[in-house]
Amino acid sequence: MERTFSIIKPDAVANGLTGKIVARLQEEGFRIVALKMVHLTLAEAEGFYAVHRERPFFASLTKFMTEGPIVPMILEREDAISRLRDVMGATNPANATVGTIRKMYAESIERNVIHGSDAPETAKFEMSYFFNAFEVM
Ligand code: ATP
Ligand code: MG
Repeated sequence: MERTFSIIKPDAVANGLTGKIVARLQEEGFRIVALKMVHLTLAEAEGFYAVHRERPFFASLTKFMTEGPIVPMILEREDAISRLRDVMGATNPANATVGTIRKMYAESIERNVIHGSDAPETAKFEMSYFFNAFEVM
């Protein structure tokens, strides 16, 4: 069993997709170990995406991530990190495989509905950024 970290991004929450995305993840065999709704400040979004701070899209991305509430989650299953990336689809929905969450719901490379950790070290950092021990089941 492996754990990964995911966020239902502000575009998806605002469009009423939270339930559909959670249901899809459960159908794909992920167990929800932690889940809540939060509205990030700009400083909090900048801290979360600090690895991208030199990228040209950093300011726009962090503004997007603060425009409304998000739903961070910790998910558990076998091979969770790579399986979540598969179910999410490519960063740019134009390149995503049919049936993936981003292909189904994302409108652009930035407003792409869902985040998923890309490696064990980033998963660990991201889980601890959003959840304390009392919030993880
Ligand atoms: P995430 O980290 O959210 O799971 P990812 O790993 O597929 O997505 P990253 O390269 O880590 O993609 O980029 C983080 C996020 O930054 C993307 O999900 C997207 O919202 C935004 N982003 C990435 N590339 C661009 C771009 N070229 N223009 C605008 N926004 C971008
Ligand atoms: Mg990433």
